[in-house]
Amino acid sequence: MLTLAIQKSGRLSDSTRALLRDCGIQFQNGSSPKLKTRATNFPLQILFLRDDDIPECVADGVADAGIVGENICAEKEKSVQIVEKLGFARCRLSIAVPREFDYAGPHDLNGLNIATSYPVVLRRFLQSKDIEASIREISGSVEVVPGIGWADAIFDIVSTGSTLVSNGLKEVHTVMESEAVFIAGPAPAAEKQALIDKLLFRIRAVRKASAYRYILLNSPNAALEHITAILPGMKSPTVMPLAMEGWSSVHTVIREDDFWEIIEELKLAGAEGILVLPIEKMID
Ligand code: ATP
Ligand code: MG
Repeated sequence: MLTLAIQKSGRLSDSTRALLRDCGIQFQNGSSPKLKTRATNFPLQILFLRDDDIPECVADGVADAGIVGENICAEKEKSVQIVEKLGFARCRLSIAVPREFDYAGPHDLNGLNIATSYPVVLRRFLQSKDIEASIREISGSVEVVPGIGWADAIFDIVSTGSTLVSNGLKEVHTVMESEAVFIAGPAPAAEKQALIDKLLFRIRAVRKASAYRYILLNSPNAALEHITAILPGMKSPTVMPLAMEGWSSVHTVIREDDFWEIIEELKLAGAEGILVLPIEKMID
């Protein structure tokens, strides 16, 4: 049995649960006050925790693996390994200063008070740049602190930057990029590693599929060569004759990003009845 720690509720929790479900794992939701649950169709126990506690829980071996923000991993400095990046909960940890502050570079932070919930990551950054600044550790709403004169600058999570702007701040330096990551203890036992590998195999298949689409279109036979040359298929596209004389159906798998690039070209080449379908799982 594998024990996996995930966030109970917050910005990681919905996407984490959706990912596990897309991997075909069925479990109850962990709605309050439930702390743990067993998957019904995979040897998996899920612990629902605050994100801050997940690295320690994995490092201590209470959980074999976890899903948490890279930023929390960096902050907690526990002995865990990042096994896979998961592509959701993307954000960055940045320094922000009041809008009117004339910022030329990190050396301008010398002598300032900087408020943050991430003192470890901030201290490491300041040391790497030889900057002497005081760190004010604050647990919530860091962005309001300069407005009440409690700090000169902040170091916090930014995703769109709109919270900063509405508090009269501007982002001046990105210190780290973060996304959700799958973590495990430093040396899982063979039986645990086998389950981690099984789960990761599914996670990779689901993540890969989400970037691709299955595309079907009708092509006049005369245009087939041109149209199949436009399609950046996985191998070569499947071409099947239509009941209507002179036409074929072309099927292939392409990246969604590529699809938007080539749609006009396909139409100009004579493609008709273009269908684009989501793919649930993709295995090489
Ligand atoms: P908990 O109650 O579990 O301690 P929390 O309030 O500390 O939760 P959340 O706000 O739920 O944390 O954020 C969890 C993680 O999601 C962050 O550590 C970060 O990795 C990521 N994250 C936070 N804010 C954003 C955002 N605005 N956009 C994208 N990802 C974010
Ligand atoms: Mg937290």
